[in-house]
Amino acid sequence: MSGPGPTGAEATRFSRRVPRARIHPPVDVFPIHAWKLETTRFTGHFVPQVETLYALGNGYLGLRGDFEEGAPRAQPGVFLNGFYESWPIVYGESAYGFARTGQTIVNVTDGKVIKLYVDDEPFEIANANILEWHRTLDLRAGTLDRTILFETPAGKRISLTTRRMVSITHRHLALLSYEVSVLNATAHFTVASELFTRHGEAEGSDDDPRRSSGFDGRVLEPVCQRAEGSRAVLVHRTRNSGLALACGMDHEVSTGAPFTERAECGENRAEVVFSIDAGPEQPFHLTKYLAYHFSGEATEEELTARAERTLRRNREIGEQRLFEEQRERLDDFWEHSDVEIRGDPAIQQSVRFNLFQVFQATARAEGFGVPAKGLTGQGYEGHYFWDAEIYVLPYLIYTAPRVAKNLLQFRCRMLDQARERARELGHRGALFPWRTISGEEASAYYAAGTAQYHIDADIVYALRKYVQASGDARFLCESGAELIVETARLWLDLGFFSEHKDGAFCINGVTGPDEYTAVVDNNRYTNMMARENLLGAVATVETLRNRYPDDLRNLVRKTGFEASELEQWRRAAECMHLPVDEKTGIHPQDDDFLEKEVWDCSAIPPEKFPLLLHYHPLVLYRHQVIKQADVVMAMFLVGHEFSAEEKKRNFDYYDPLTTRDSSLSSCIQSIVASEIGYPEKAFDYFLDAALVDLADIGGNVTDGVHIASAGGTWLALVYGFGGMRDHEREISFHPRLPADWEGLRFRLEIRGQRMEVDMDREGTSYRLLEGSGLLLRHEDEECRLLPDAPARFQATSS
Ligand code: BGC
Repeated sequence: MSGPGPTGAEATRFSRRVPRARIHPPVDVFPIHAWKLETTRFTGHFVPQVETLYALGNGYLGLRGDFEEGAPRAQPGVFLNGFYESWPIVYGESAYGFARTGQTIVNVTDGKVIKLYVDDEPFEIANANILEWHRTLDLRAGTLDRTILFETPAGKRISLTTRRMVSITHRHLALLSYEVSVLNATAHFTVASELFTRHGEAEGSDDDPRRSSGFDGRVLEPVCQRAEGSRAVLVHRTRNSGLALACGMDHEVSTGAPFTERAECGENRAEVVFSIDAGPEQPFHLTKYLAYHFSGEATEEELTARAERTLRRNREIGEQRLFEEQRERLDDFWEHSDVEIRGDPAIQQSVRFNLFQVFQATARAEGFGVPAKGLTGQGYEGHYFWDAEIYVLPYLIYTAPRVAKNLLQFRCRMLDQARERARELGHRGALFPWRTISGEEASAYYAAGTAQYHIDADIVYALRKYVQASGDARFLCESGAELIVETARLWLDLGFFSEHKDGAFCINGVTGPDEYTAVVDNNRYTNMMARENLLGAVATVETLRNRYPDDLRNLVRKTGFEASELEQWRRAAECMHLPVDEKTGIHPQDDDFLEKEVWDCSAIPPEKFPLLLHYHPLVLYRHQVIKQADVVMAMFLVGHEFSAEEKKRNFDYYDPLTTRDSSLSSCIQSIVASEIGYPEKAFDYFLDAALVDLADIGGNVTDGVHIASAGGTWLALVYGFGGMRDHEREISFHPRLPADWEGLRFRLEIRGQRMEVDMDREGTSYRLLEGSGLLLRHEDEECRLLPDAPARFQATSS
């Protein structure tokens, strides 16, 4: 399984391909390995980045990769999806309908801490005489492993082995395995295992809106605490949002050495301290079970009981089996979700790292969304945006449909709040929040927030893709249809048939994906996605009418749907204002975009990027300069609406105007560049997406990984190089293998059947892994894929 080890060329392995200016450490400290991210020495100056890169999570619980010893540290943290504090947003000048309540994910009680004292001297990584060091994120095992050999000033050689995981199988559980031994003497060890509540403080930000704004003062109020034997539980409650959290720990020891244990507990700290007299060959092995439960309704007694139950149950299962289970879950994940790249081990490593990040952010999110940084940091306050629907869900839909469904169900449950928000803004239907945790709009800057109405259409896009790819009609009938109808109503209400534009349906005063151009009329992306939403609503109602009349009756009951709405939606979709600029033949990003002064991106000094940190929004808004793919994004999502020439003309126009200021752009630019025959550009953009975290391309990986780009890496591989398109129920491929690669292989699940696509330099093979038969297209050829009958197509050009 292991790839080639470190080579002399390693330090420059990406710099040959990505301009050095965009690469930051720590990428070069990780030797190339197919399944691991390993450091073989302590790299003190990369602590902030490595805390993010070594974070573990399961979509519910996330631990940053800070050290058990508690130092050195940058932003140590533990996060729970949906556990947030709210605060009043204070505007210098407020206005009607502005979001009122900010929400920030809370850095909760930290149970990672296990401190070691050798003969009463603390083991401090930064000062210790470390003889050997291995710290590894193991993508197959789903663990963070560490072995250290160090020598005390008294000449005692101490070996320390730790292993931690956030369990995928047991959603509320993290596990730490800790073993210390003295090799050449006897020693007295004190091992202090802690729970420690930092009051939820957030790293306050400077002027960077992408970071968390921090809290003024204490967030987590102690409620009750309990310690008994080797177990302790701390319960806290947030001041404003009223969420209560129980964090518990329990321990199991295995050693031949004599030891004592003592538990202590205060309001914000609990400690179980082990005191050991160890001789050589007498390792002290500690298993720490950590449980997290939170709720807005449950009492503290109930939460304590839940935490204790999790601890008890997992102690019964035991460390070894729990790690085995984790491995089994990861085996299953890779079996369904891996993308294999042959001939480029460095890229293979970063691709797997990205896929693993998506897995960690979503696997057990159940009932919650996907924060922009997953659970790896507090960037963007832990908010959910459109990132999940557009960048992450396609991957899940085709590899883990159950997880995809959970995420969509979470949106469906938010529908009543979206209805209320629409009412508040004077609209019919439902308007989803641009950014949120609780379901309430939390974007304090409406121009780049609430104005992004496209969120409604993005959710519907993902929902319909899920239904088409999975065949899950029940989900559509029971929950999806209602959301689709309410969002269609929003569009009809928001737009109008403009006399001035010959009756065209216009949607004014919105912001598209490009946040460097705000509050505009007829943003192309928004109009096209709104049209999809409207037509999707027509198709959904017709499906229910034809096939599920009982469900249609329910829909009418829940939404007051009237048959006349169908015609209105259809008409709005047909008349949607989607102009072509006569002079250039391109699709204007909005009504005024082409009137603005072009900003020559190539003339802007590199230190001025990202522009949002160096220019007032008004300067950005009055120029033709783009933060992230907008028309180009539409050309990917609704590509069937564009001709090949239009795609090329639009890309040629917009690409030079597009900065790399948003990590959500590169993967999409890559896909469209692949499609229109710009393979080098496609590869260059792909590298940007695949390396955004590992090479810290944006310089902000410390604040958390970029989950949209991680999902986007898969999009660029499958939709870009694999050339997959999946409009309606038709699946087609136009493979375009990057020039330096020997092969690319991925697997997809489509309506309960599983298939594999394997591209090499000579051609592409398709194989049915499970199921009775699938219809697909390769280039222009139709192909019925049957069991035990792989199809092979020769490449037309190399
Ligand atoms: C992007 C948004 C994105 C958000 C969170 C912003 O910088 O412009 O499109 O949803 O980051 O990733």
